[in-house]
Amino acid sequence: MTSVSLGMPDAPPPVLAPRRRTRQIKVGSVGVGSDSPISVQSMTTTPTTDINATLQQIAELTAAGCDIVRVACPSADDAEALPIIAKKSQIPVIADIHFQPKYVFAAIEAGCAGVRVNPGNIRKFDDQVKEIAQAAKDHGTSLRIGVNAGSLDARLLKKYGKATPEALVESAVWEASLFEEHDFHDFKISVKHNDPVVMVRAYEMLAERGDWPLHLGVTEAGPAFQGTIKSATAFGALLSQGIGDTIRVSLSAPPVEEVKVGIQILQSLNLRPRKLEIVSCPSCGRAQVDVYTLAEQVTAGLEGMEVPLRVAVMGCVVNGPGEAREADLGVASGNGKGQIFVKGEVIKTVPESEIVETLIEEAMKIAEGMGEAGGEDPVQGGPVVTVS
Ligand code: SF4
Repeated sequence: MTSVSLGMPDAPPPVLAPRRRTRQIKVGSVGVGSDSPISVQSMTTTPTTDINATLQQIAELTAAGCDIVRVACPSADDAEALPIIAKKSQIPVIADIHFQPKYVFAAIEAGCAGVRVNPGNIRKFDDQVKEIAQAAKDHGTSLRIGVNAGSLDARLLKKYGKATPEALVESAVWEASLFEEHDFHDFKISVKHNDPVVMVRAYEMLAERGDWPLHLGVTEAGPAFQGTIKSATAFGALLSQGIGDTIRVSLSAPPVEEVKVGIQILQSLNLRPRKLEIVSCPSCGRAQVDVYTLAEQVTAGLEGMEVPLRVAVMGCVVNGPGEAREADLGVASGNGKGQIFVKGEVIKTVPESEIVETLIEEAMKIAEGMGEAGGEDPVQGGPVVTVS
């Protein structure tokens, strides 16, 4: 078999900025902070009391590449389900607690890897910081101080009139100081807002105030299309400055979609190794093939490949040969035919009807050459589709 050099770079690919230095914490087995890769989180949508359904969803999220999962705990029945969920989940479980301080303790005792507390709506939260810090310390549980625009402390709402970046940051810094007074440092912070502009400003300000690891999120970002764009825009603005240690994309969509988007954002910024990347042109009046269908079929045919392979699918000879030559594998179409490129060399010309199968066949050969013909973890990340 001819071996194909994939031109793998020796040095890590460039990033836009070095990570902001933070203290390091652990959420179960996952490190969070500047010494660890940026992790991707999501949250289950099943009733936590339905243990089987919740574990099933966690398994799907794990297969999709989720690093840490959060589950809601609004009632005593949910709290009762936590020990088994925390024990059986393949990834660390964070319990999400609002309103009732007793569930913070229940979640810690249940063996959850982390607990998210919302100081804005937990009754007499500040009075209980000492006990919470002690319980978390005793169990090796890390916390997230999760300030949220929609449930900001009433005192700060009154002071600032609304959830401004200053209000979100003041709330977070105050709560952080209370935990630190009790010598508890194993927490990260989030200051979420549904407006990316406010959210970005709040995180920028917070990043200046301390070395806490930061959990990024645009809260209530909306349905998949809008939420993806809002999250990508806001996370991109922060991650490109090195700010952000763990992320959660919030979508009104199945949580697996949140994970795919999160992974894609990190891959786009070289903050995670890129896997399969499809470079396809947007098509135009010069296109001599149906680029949309071709790109879709190639994407579908290669789904699950875990190799860092760049595949160019181009509609005509204007940019086609150039892009196809730059990619590991590519096609430049024209006159009902496709010129197939492997590492910059034309290896054959096939009729249009054979372009997809030829590209898939060649991709498989390259993957085999790398000793990996597909994924043990086929869902993770999904193919990257870049429209040039
Ligand atoms: S490669 Fe050709 S068909 Fe595709 S956008 Fe460029 S000019 Fe148009």
